[in-house]
Amino acid sequence: MTTKFFIDNEMIEKLLEDAKNASESEINEILQKAENFQGLTEYEVAVLINLEDKKYLERIFSIAKKIKQNIYGERVVMFAPIYVSDYCINKCEYCGFRCDNKFDRKKLNMDELREEVRLLEKMGHKRLALEAGEHPSTNPIEYILECIDTIYNMKFENGEIRRINVNIAATTVENYKKLKDIEIGTYILFQETYHKETYERVHISGPKKDYFYHTTAFDRAMEAGIEDVGGGALFGLYDYRYEVLGLMIHNKHLEESFGVGFHTISVPRLCEAEGVSRENYKYLINDEEFKKIVAVLRLAVPYTGIIISTRETKEMRAELINLGVSQISAGSAVEVGGYTLREKKGSQFTVADERPARDVIYWLMQENLIPSFCTACYRMGRTGDRFMQLAKTGNIKNVCLPNAIMSLKEFSLDYGDKEFSELADKIIKDKINDIGNPKILETTKENLQKLENGERDLFL
Ligand code: SF4
Ligand code: SF4
Repeated sequence: MTTKFFIDNEMIEKLLEDAKNASESEINEILQKAENFQGLTEYEVAVLINLEDKKYLERIFSIAKKIKQNIYGERVVMFAPIYVSDYCINKCEYCGFRCDNKFDRKKLNMDELREEVRLLEKMGHKRLALEAGEHPSTNPIEYILECIDTIYNMKFENGEIRRINVNIAATTVENYKKLKDIEIGTYILFQETYHKETYERVHISGPKKDYFYHTTAFDRAMEAGIEDVGGGALFGLYDYRYEVLGLMIHNKHLEESFGVGFHTISVPRLCEAEGVSRENYKYLINDEEFKKIVAVLRLAVPYTGIIISTRETKEMRAELINLGVSQISAGSAVEVGGYTLREKKGSQFTVADERPARDVIYWLMQENLIPSFCTACYRMGRTGDRFMQLAKTGNIKNVCLPNAIMSLKEFSLDYGDKEFSELADKIIKDKINDIGNPKILETTKENLQKLENGERDLFL
């Protein structure tokens, strides 16, 4: 008897079909379960993601907001992408870096990389997502490791980059071990689409075309000892309901095989734009569907971080943060050497949310949210199942909020002007008493004083 691959097309289609017949009382039971922070099974996810009735959608949104508020509070973790090379041997239909697109490709040398990182640090970033195309001879693993090593070894007046998440192509256990040894944060890889037929159609040529190799990348990463992996789907390539189930089944497979599922889930979406039209992509999702996706994911995996990128507008980001998003990028450049180029040209961003990092962070505070630059867990060894244990018992709150407050204070001291610092201090004053544990509250207050006195990088 052959074992079935964990992404089983027939099973997903059957789940989606069966879910259509869910009764009203069944739907209510599922919603009740979600409201108790119990997460959802794949079938339950299928039921909710199928719903279109406004009365149910409103209930899903309100439960998502409740979960978000309860587990994540007002914190939003900040990061920035850094593109080191756009050389790529793959021909992915939906990507501008695809190998048959003719443009001047660029790979940063270490001096150029240092300049990019200097500019990112100047914006206050402490957490980066390193991105590169797949090109074994131009971007071999040694190059990626050299980039990581270079970044970790940079020290600035106001600190350093404290966590590097890595988004590179699916690779071997041996290479993942090298990434583990150099102490990356999360290994991120988007599945793009879980639907095999679509996957093989949109990945026209190159190693990425191998669905099986790509879909089992996290198994190899975890085998190599990487504990935090971040999944994602590019919504718009295939039916969003199928993708959400694919994500859930992938997550369950990792939990069953390695004891821990996704650390984060990213939800990029293909938007109607130049070269991307409904004619070519009939599964593009609208704003309402996108909100439903984020909300259902929030209900299904309450403790997994949800990430959105600068591709979304300011308004959409605000709504999605409310519904469950816990990490966003700010001030992003989405091209190789983009930060340096922008500094030289004073050029405009080519992304939907075009505001510089400082403005995004200021806006978050105006929305009564706490931008957090915290990187504590990974540095304290709170990764993998140790992290999930802490998250699921609710104890993570005892460190997230104080860390968010301290990192915001540090940011305002080092990068804020008078107006920024005043608002940051107000937010800190408003939120600090939400720290329930008196001892931790005391330590946080002491640490705020230490930051004022010049100490840096304080965390719990
Ligand atoms: Fe673009 Fe990545 Fe595909 Fe290369 S592998 S074409 S960078 S999506
Ligand atoms: Fe993330 Fe851990 Fe910091 Fe909380 S304490 S924000 S989970 S790194």
